[in-house]
Amino acid sequence: MSKITLTETAKVLLAAKSVIIASHINPDGDAIGSSLALMHTMTKLGKDARVFIDDAIPSIFAFLPGAEKIERPPETITEKLRPDLFVILDASLDRVSRVRELVDAPTLNIDHHVSNDGAADKLYLDADRAATAEIIYELVKEMNAEFDYENALPLYTGIATDSGFFRYANTKPFTMRAAAELMEYGVKPNLVSEATEVKPFAVVKGLGAALSAAEIFHDGLAAGIFLDYPTVKELETTEGFIDEIRVIEGVDVAVLVKCQGENMCRVSMRSKTLDVAKIAMKFGGGGHVRAAGCTLKTSFDEAKKIITEELNRALSEEVA
Ligand code: AMP
Ligand code: MN
Ligand code: MN
Repeated sequence: MSKITLTETAKVLLAAKSVIIASHINPDGDAIGSSLALMHTMTKLGKDARVFIDDAIPSIFAFLPGAEKIERPPETITEKLRPDLFVILDASLDRVSRVRELVDAPTLNIDHHVSNDGAADKLYLDADRAATAEIIYELVKEMNAEFDYENALPLYTGIATDSGFFRYANTKPFTMRAAAELMEYGVKPNLVSEATEVKPFAVVKGLGAALSAAEIFHDGLAAGIFLDYPTVKELETTEGFIDEIRVIEGVDVAVLVKCQGENMCRVSMRSKTLDVAKIAMKFGGGGHVRAAGCTLKTSFDEAKKIITEELNRALSEEVA
């Protein structure tokens, strides 16, 4: 792996005639937004660009231009795709699932996660950026490409969703300036918020039930929502659930455990001070200091026990 600069990254992109862009499973607004913006920009530069994500695209992102063009690797991969360049956005190479088996090409990884594993051939990492979409915004300029509604809307969406609509600690003056400039191309913040925050009635009721069952521990420094598999099966999404307990007075760490299978529990963590990326990395996950996640291949009870014990330990250490 070699770490490269923004200028070098732009050159690598410009040198390719064909690219396949991939992002992480459980795709969020940044994964989808930065991929669509880069695909559109590269296409306008006359290149052949495709996006592959090995997961379902949440319906809340269907309003993004080009969302319908996102492809998924076939059930059985019989033939490898060989573009000039394989670009992985907003994650390390190990989080793109089967796209990795589908594509055989030199890898360029563009990311903002401190936990990036550095496995790609070339890496452009800027952990100070709130979103990978901020880096793509910089690259559009660096490549002397143009902004229009088709790349501005997904870029704005990536920046807005990863910064909690400009509320999280990762929000910098740069974040606001980039968002303001993207608005010049017709982006309406209220429409992005309405589109991405919409929830089916059943999910709002599910949120109510999840909040009723929320727990606080470690003298009120931690709050958790723990959803077993039967509960999760009934919910279309749990997006935003963790934000509702993050705000509890005195809470430093919020955790959401959702079991997506009998032995497959996804953990999301948010904090005000504790380094949750460190905890997530202990279990093979990653993320940022204040927002991180991992997957535990254990039963619901075991996952709940493991994660509460780990948070209790980390919070005791921090106070000590
Ligand atoms: P989430 O809680 O799913 O919103 O994720 C919070 C942050 O942690 C995001 O930046 C994710 O990309 C990252 N993250 C979540 N799960 C994992 C994982 N299993 N491996 C690496 N990073 C993760
Ligand atoms: Mn992401
Ligand atoms: Mn991101």
